[in-house]
Amino acid sequence: MSDTPPPSVTPPPEHTRPLGGAKFLTEPEPERGVALPVIPGVWRVVANNPGPMTYHGTNTYLIEGEDGMAVLDPGPDDPAHVAAVLTAGGGGIRRILLSHGHRDHVGATAALRAATGAEVFGFQPSLQPEIPIDHALSEGDEVASLTVLHTPGHAADHLCFARAGGALFSADHVMSWSTSVVSPPNGDMAHYLVHLRRLVPRDDRWLLPGHGPLLGRPAAFIRALIAHRVQREKAILAALGPEPVSVSNLAATIYRGISPRLQAAAERNLLGHLVKLEAERQARREGELWRRAGPVAG
Ligand SMILES: [Zn+2]
Repeated sequence: MSDTPPPSVTPPPEHTRPLGGAKFLTEPEPERGVALPVIPGVWRVVANNPGPMTYHGTNTYLIEGEDGMAVLDPGPDDPAHVAAVLTAGGGGIRRILLSHGHRDHVGATAALRAATGAEVFGFQPSLQPEIPIDHALSEGDEVASLTVLHTPGHAADHLCFARAGGALFSADHVMSWSTSVVSPPNGDMAHYLVHLRRLVPRDDRWLLPGHGPLLGRPAAFIRALIAHRVQREKAILAALGPEPVSVSNLAATIYRGISPRLQAAAERNLLGHLVKLEAERQARREGELWRRAGPVAG
């Protein structure tokens, strides 16, 4: 999720708070450098890039198909991780799929492509134009026995992949361990909410996120995520008055007591909400400051 190498830390308690009627999941640090079974025909290799935005690290999935293995998200540009994925693939990697262009997911794409000769599939335009994408994917496409869902919000080029039998590879659109960062301009809160809501009626059996453990029966969790964002938006509207305020001052009101390490991400999410509210004519931007648009109650 972040372009800067995160420090090696354990996740902060903010991420383990209850989420309405659902809760975020935690897991012990996964074994590094090996393929861990997730569901039948699917394994993950967890990259060694832990941090406040990445949890224990990026999940690189290996997905068994009729004609070889697909890798979903090569992970960060780390030779040890690429070597582990190659070992796990056992020479059978035929396709490389990309969920979105954040470097912790696609940094190793060129190296894995060069080592395997596998073709690369992803949304275009990618957030990283230098990433070699051989085949552009869009909504409804089928690749490696998976169906593509275009789910902009966390990133404009974000894709989820659905597997027969009710497994959804949700990458950073929905994560089991934390909320997602929606950072303008590539992140779009209005799109994010639209594409969260579309997942609820799917009623998938499993959600396989880009960071964190497998989540079973995710519909209730997704509904709780939506409710959390709606609640947050109400709090922002309640805190916005006729006097212009900065995003960081607003964040101090909305995210009281947040860990300093999460402050920047919280402010990006807040800006995401403000941009959405501006488009809905409920908030107004004045330079770097924001205020309520229209009549203010009370
Ligand atoms: Zn991301």
